[in-house]
Amino acid sequence: MTELSRAINASDEEIERALQHAHLPSLINVLVHLTGDATLLDKSIKPLPMTIGGTPPPYPEEIENRIRKLALETLIHGRDHGFEDHPVEESLLLEMINFITGVELTEEYIPYALDELNIAPVAKEQPLDSSKANDFHVAIVGGGMSGLLAGIRMQELGVQYTIFEKNADVGGTWYENRYPGCRVDSPNHVYSYSFKPKDWPQHFSDQNTLLGYFQETADEYGLRDHIRFETEVSSLRYDTDTSTWNIEVNGPNGAESVVANAVIAATGQLNRPKMPDIAGVEDFQGDWFHSAEWDHSVSMAGKRVGIIGTGASAFQFTPEVVKEASDVTVFMRTPPWVATNPIYHEYITEEVHWLLNQVPYYQSWFRFNMFWTSGEGLLSFARCDDSWNDNIQSVSPANQKLREILTKGIETHLEGRPDLIEKLTPWYPPAAKRMLIDNGHYYRSLKQDHVRVVGDPIDKINQTGLQTSSGEQFDFDVIVYGTGFSASKILFPMRIYGRDGKELRETWDEDPRAYLGVTMPNYPNFFCLYGPNTNIVVNGSIIFFSECEMHYVSKCLRHLLENGYAAMDCREEPFKDYNEEIDASSLKMAWGASKVNAWYKNANGRVTQNWPGSLVEFWHQMRELNPDDYEFFEANEKMVGTAGLEPATT
Ligand code: NAP
Repeated sequence: MTELSRAINASDEEIERALQHAHLPSLINVLVHLTGDATLLDKSIKPLPMTIGGTPPPYPEEIENRIRKLALETLIHGRDHGFEDHPVEESLLLEMINFITGVELTEEYIPYALDELNIAPVAKEQPLDSSKANDFHVAIVGGGMSGLLAGIRMQELGVQYTIFEKNADVGGTWYENRYPGCRVDSPNHVYSYSFKPKDWPQHFSDQNTLLGYFQETADEYGLRDHIRFETEVSSLRYDTDTSTWNIEVNGPNGAESVVANAVIAATGQLNRPKMPDIAGVEDFQGDWFHSAEWDHSVSMAGKRVGIIGTGASAFQFTPEVVKEASDVTVFMRTPPWVATNPIYHEYITEEVHWLLNQVPYYQSWFRFNMFWTSGEGLLSFARCDDSWNDNIQSVSPANQKLREILTKGIETHLEGRPDLIEKLTPWYPPAAKRMLIDNGHYYRSLKQDHVRVVGDPIDKINQTGLQTSSGEQFDFDVIVYGTGFSASKILFPMRIYGRDGKELRETWDEDPRAYLGVTMPNYPNFFCLYGPNTNIVVNGSIIFFSECEMHYVSKCLRHLLENGYAAMDCREEPFKDYNEEIDASSLKMAWGASKVNAWYKNANGRVTQNWPGSLVEFWHQMRELNPDDYEFFEANEKMVGTAGLEPATT
C-alpha cells in the first residue's frame, strides 16, 4: 500500500478525537507531506533535543490547536476528495528529520529515511536469472527472527534454501522464552520488520504476541515448506574441492548429512542458557530451572523461591513470582540500571491505532520517532568524553546527567526503603550493561514484605537451598536461574570447519570476530546474522541489524552468482582492519570503557558482542559489497554442479 492510498474511514468527530492523541512532531511532518507546506517546520516549535526521563515541554495551546485544526481539515479533505501528492525533496526531508529529532543531523540520514519512510525505498532484490540461481542451495541455521528474514530474502533472489530449526516451531527466542512476564523491551514499532508493520496491541508486546508475529511471517511468506523442524545442525565442514558445505544434522529421522553451497547462520547470540559456575547446582532437591526453560508445571503459590540474577529476564519474571510465592529471595550480583517508561505495560489506545492505520505517513514518522528516541538518539549518552576523568561512575557529562536522572527514578520508586536504594543503585556508568525499562513494577515488587534482596555472593548450592559467602543458609522450594546465556560462544555448540580444516571455535578461542559482523576468512560462503559485534546496548532494535546484514548477504550472493563464482572468502586485511576499528571504537563507549562485568565482553574483557557506532553508520556499511574485500573462487572441475541440498552420497 502506498501512503496516499490509505483510506480514511471515520466521521469528522472521530478524526477530531483521534487527533487529540497524535504525537505532534510526527503529525506536523505528516502535514508537510499532505499539504506541501514546509513553513510548518517552524523552528520556534521544534522539539528540544532529547533528554532521558525528561518530558518534552508541552506545545503552547495556541500552536497545538492550530496544528490539530489544520490536520482535521486536511484529513477530512483527503477522506472526501483523496490526498494530493507533494513530493518531498531530500533537503526538505532532512529538515523534517531535524525537526522531529530536535537536533541538526547530517545528510547520512537521508538515504536511510527515504527507505524507512517508504518515500524512495531501497529496491527489493530482483530475482537472479534462474539458470544461475536454481542450482544454488543455501542452508539457513535457525528459524527465529533472523532465519525467517533470511528465507524471505532467499526467496526474493530465487535461490533454493532450507531452514534448519531445532525447535518444533519458528520464533527462536520468542518460542523458547516463555517465562511469566516475558515481553519485548524495545518498542514494537521499531522491533518489527520494516516490511511487515503490525497493528501492535501494546507498545511493548508480550511473548505470545511476538511469537504470533513470527508465526504469521512464516505463514505469509510460505516459509514453512522450507523449514525442517526439530532438526539441529551439529557440524559444518567446508569442502574446497567442491566449494560446498557438508552439514551434519540431527532430526526426527536421526542423523543425516546434507550439502549446501552457502550457509547463513541465524542462531542468535542468546539461545544457549547459561547456568552459573556455582558448585552444587545438581544437589538441590527442590525444583529448579533456567528462565529460558521455565517449568510451568511448577506452581510458585505459597512457595519459598530463590531467584538468581537481576538481568533483563529476571527483571521481568521476578514481579510475577513475587505475586504468587510466600517468600522470595533475589540474589543480585550487579544491580541493573533501569529507565522509567510509563507506557511499558500500556495498551495502545483506539485513537492511536486509528492514527497509525489510517493517516498517511503517520506510522512512518511515529516509527522514525521511536527509532530516534529509543535508539539512535540514546547513543550520545553512552559515548565517552575524553575530557571526563571519571569512567568509574559515568563516562561523560551527558552520561553523568543520565546517571542522576536514573538515580532519581530509583529513589522515587523505592521511596521509604533506603536499604534497597543503596543496594540497587549501580556503581558503574549507565549503558555499560544492558539498561532495563520499567514503569516501577519491578521496584514495587522488591519492596514487598515477603521479598528480600541479597547482595552477598553465593558460595554453594546444596540440598535444601544455598549458602552465601557470609555463611548464611537460605532454604527454598524452588530456585530459578535468571543467569543469562553463553553469549560470547557465538554459534556454539555447532562445530564449524573451514577451508584449512580448522575449527572456528579454535580460530576464535572465545574471541569471536567477523568482517562487518558477517564473514570470516577461511570460512567461504558462510554468513553470520547477529554475529560478532552486531549487538546493541541502548540503541535500537536487533531486527534493524538483521535487516542490514541480510541486505549485505543478498548483495554477496548476487555478486557470486552473477559472476559465475562458486565461493567467496573474506580477505584477512579488511577483516583485521575492521576489527581494529571496532576495538578502538568500543573503548570509546560506556560498555567498553567501564570495567563492570557484562555478557558483552569475553573473558579477556574485549567487547565481542556490540556494535560501537550509530545505527545509520551500520546501515551504510551494509549497503554494498566491495568485491575487493573477498577472494572469489571459480567452480572447479570437481565442483558438484548442482549440489543442491541433497543427502550426501557416502
Ligand atoms: P543477563 O543479562 O546475562 O543476566 C544474568 C543475570 O544473572 C545477571 O544479573 C548476572 O549478574 C546474574 N548472574 C550470573 N551468574 C551469577 C552468579 N554466579 N551469581 C549471581 N548472579 C549471577 O541475562 P538475561 O537477563 O537472560 O538477559 C540476556 C539478554 O537477553 C539481555 O541483555 C537482552 O539483550 C536479552 N533479553 C531481552 C528481553 C526483552 O527484550 N524483553 C528480555 C530478556 C532478555 P551480573 O550482572 O553480575 O553478571
